[in-house]
Amino acid sequence: MALRPLIVGNWKMNGTRATLAEARAIDRAAARHPAVEVGLAPSFTLVMAMAEAAQDIAVGGQDCHVKPSGAFTGDVAAAQLADAGASFAIVGHSERRALHGESDALVQAKAEAALGEGLAVIVCVGETEAERDAGQAEAVVAGQLAGSLPTAEGAAARLAVAYEPVWAIGTGRVPSVDDVGAMHRAIRARLGAAYGEAGAAVRILYGGSVNAANAAELLAADEVSGALVGGASLTAESFSAIIAAAAQQQDG
Ligand code: PEP
Repeated sequence: MALRPLIVGNWKMNGTRATLAEARAIDRAAARHPAVEVGLAPSFTLVMAMAEAAQDIAVGGQDCHVKPSGAFTGDVAAAQLADAGASFAIVGHSERRALHGESDALVQAKAEAALGEGLAVIVCVGETEAERDAGQAEAVVAGQLAGSLPTAEGAAARLAVAYEPVWAIGTGRVPSVDDVGAMHRAIRARLGAAYGEAGAAVRILYGGSVNAANAAELLAADEVSGALVGGASLTAESFSAIIAAAAQQQDG
């Protein structure tokens, strides 16, 4: 099934109001390529302003809390994200898993919370370098999927999975196209087992050092239906080139 490509930028802890000019330029690039769905996930501080400025991109959060409100200092609820104009949330990013100790069960609860507030959700999975070297990459990712995927009725319709090998994030290193394809095929099979036919419509994004130079090759790998992009999403120049690469693939 040919899925509409989804290209999402994760700005991590970068960006101030001055950076909204980049988001506006990315928005204009998205307008030029309607065959591609484009999203940006800035820090919470910028979600509302970016959502107000954006016309052709979706704006999302990089995380959300499992509860709708309460005494959780520093956290942001999915309902608050939606209220600020977000339409999706990223959950289970490897930096949250590693630096904030997030378990699969917590990631799953966050995904359910986001869906419950009407947001789409991107669930991130990916192995460490040691796990890949030990030949455990597919087993690790399968375990993360089993523990993190939302199970709510209709979840698959608003779900994307981002495969992000931890060792490729921010390092400039990427897996071979064959390895990306093999992992994405394995993820597709798990999605089928989890959601039945609906699993075929879930987009599987590749993430980890995607840039303007390697995007076309990575996006062409088997079962890759988009990209989750960190560093190269911070400027319109590099992110627009990735959006254009996805659009070109649709045309070709
Ligand atoms: C990410 O953190 O989601 C990511 C893919 O980062 P980068 O593109 O910078 O490797």
